[in-house]
Amino acid sequence: MCGIIGYIGDRKACEVIVDGLKRLEYRGYDSVGVVTEENGKLHIRKGAGKIDELKEKLRLNEMPGNRGIGHTRWATHGIPNDINAHPHTDCTGEIAIVHNGIIENYLELKEELIKKGHRFVSDTDTEVIVHLIEEGLKDFKNLENALRYALLKLKGSFALGIIYTKDREHLYLVRNESPLVLGIGNGEMLFASDIPALLPYTNRVIFLDDGEYAVITKNSFVIKDMRTGEIRDKQIQEINWSLEMAEKQGYDHFMLKEIHEQPKAVKEAFYGNVKTIDKVAKEIAKYEKIFIVAMGTSYHAGIAGKYLFQRLAKKVPIVEEASEFRYEAEDLVDENTLVIAITQSGETADTLAAIRLAKKKGAKVLSIVNVVGSMATRISDLVVYTHAGPEIGVAATKTYATQLTVLAMLTAALAKHLGTVEESYLKELENQIHDLPKYVEAALGYENKIKKLAKELKDKRDFFYIGRSISFATALEGALKLKEISYIHAEGLSAGELKHGPLALIEEGVPVVAIAPTGKTYDKIISNIEEAKARKGFIITLGDSEELKEISDVFIKMPKVDELLSPIVYIVPLQLLAYHLAVLRGNDPDKPRNLAKSVTVE
Ligand code: GLU
Repeated sequence: MCGIIGYIGDRKACEVIVDGLKRLEYRGYDSVGVVTEENGKLHIRKGAGKIDELKEKLRLNEMPGNRGIGHTRWATHGIPNDINAHPHTDCTGEIAIVHNGIIENYLELKEELIKKGHRFVSDTDTEVIVHLIEEGLKDFKNLENALRYALLKLKGSFALGIIYTKDREHLYLVRNESPLVLGIGNGEMLFASDIPALLPYTNRVIFLDDGEYAVITKNSFVIKDMRTGEIRDKQIQEINWSLEMAEKQGYDHFMLKEIHEQPKAVKEAFYGNVKTIDKVAKEIAKYEKIFIVAMGTSYHAGIAGKYLFQRLAKKVPIVEEASEFRYEAEDLVDENTLVIAITQSGETADTLAAIRLAKKKGAKVLSIVNVVGSMATRISDLVVYTHAGPEIGVAATKTYATQLTVLAMLTAALAKHLGTVEESYLKELENQIHDLPKYVEAALGYENKIKKLAKELKDKRDFFYIGRSISFATALEGALKLKEISYIHAEGLSAGELKHGPLALIEEGVPVVAIAPTGKTYDKIISNIEEAKARKGFIITLGDSEELKEISDVFIKMPKVDELLSPIVYIVPLQLLAYHLAVLRGNDPDKPRNLAKSVTVE
């Protein structure tokens, strides 16, 4: 995820671009870059850092020209540094582009382009696009055709802005699986990843659809299909959102927006790793002694990870909070140990301390991280990125879904390598991992039902979440979401524990949320639900089997998915429940009291 903006008109382009980048900063903030054109010459200023500091340092507001594009980056390929910052240029320096998204086949393309003599300077996936356009220009007469040549070779998600010195009246923009909006002004045209950047100049916009590109001048635009080149007839829409609403794309809170972004996030997690995961799995295969260390939501992903390792790879990792591990593991870790650290920010103090301890003792460290270039990625031996994009809401949602996706991919690849599960089962599991966005989308469909349920439950004092096997992780994470943002007391339990104590707390009307996908322990959890029901608990079940309806006060029918993948799908209604309860109780879910997004102190 990142922010793109482009401008062509009579104003000083850099001022519009810098202002727009500031409004898009929530989409990505590790690097910034601007390119403008005057008299057929490109002016490029870029660097790692935040817009406010770079604006002064690089004097971004003092660039010549009335035409330009800008980018605020959220790195996916290549650490955040000055060279990897966008825009990127071709070998001649005449074409510059900015990109939001991931080019899945960039390695193959890069290799081909290098063979043809192209020189690459960055580690980004983006750079292949601009060299491909350059290549296209050799055969095709104009930039538009060269651009189409390039686009048809790309696999992945890309929103692009393109500027070419020799084509002085135009800017080009493309949308494919990353957002892009065209703004139609009076004698000026703009485009941006999101509406807030356009609103100061116009409220008349066109939402490009996937597979469309546009060629704009300051007074005109034409939108075409990138496959056929045919002109698309598009509606201009008038936007009446406030700036703040626009930043959240019409959602009331970032958390809700991020919950809804999960289908896309798991898709990016999949495509961002599918080519490289085997290599990581082969490394992991060498280890028998494995620790998974993490905190908070990432720790719950670790617990799900334990079940994935056990069932798929027949390996038994020890899952521990990093805050415990760092003081307990000194004598337990050695060079035959693998430590898997899971951290959204890559800056969590306890997790970093755990990684450092593991390194000191000679262990191999694999980090699963969202923020590219963060400290955890710099001190680990291996890194797998979750590609969830920036998460603004303090309560983790889409980063959890992507951590789980990556763990499922990793353990499936491990199982394949070790031959620990039947091939036909593995094939089916792989298909389902690929289809996760569809299942997550289906789970989002329950929002209205959950909203109603939240109204019914809003004055309850205690909640119990129960699950067995891998659904234990879902119980823990569902309870954590509720605590974090609604401030209602909640406990997540492995359902078998219920009658060893907590059952004493279940009385009439106490909500018991049972996570019950069909699977190995499905029959067992039915008995646990009955135990709670007999104490007159208010039973909410999530499952794929209709028979749950009979023993539930509220039944949420989930899509049928392998039990091992169910945490990624079943957490969605629980996130929504926590969110709607928080809102009904007058809390700000984006900024829960006493909590910070990343815990960088011990
Ligand atoms: N994949 C590109 C990069 O890492 C674009 C990332 C973004 O969307 O900000 O540079």
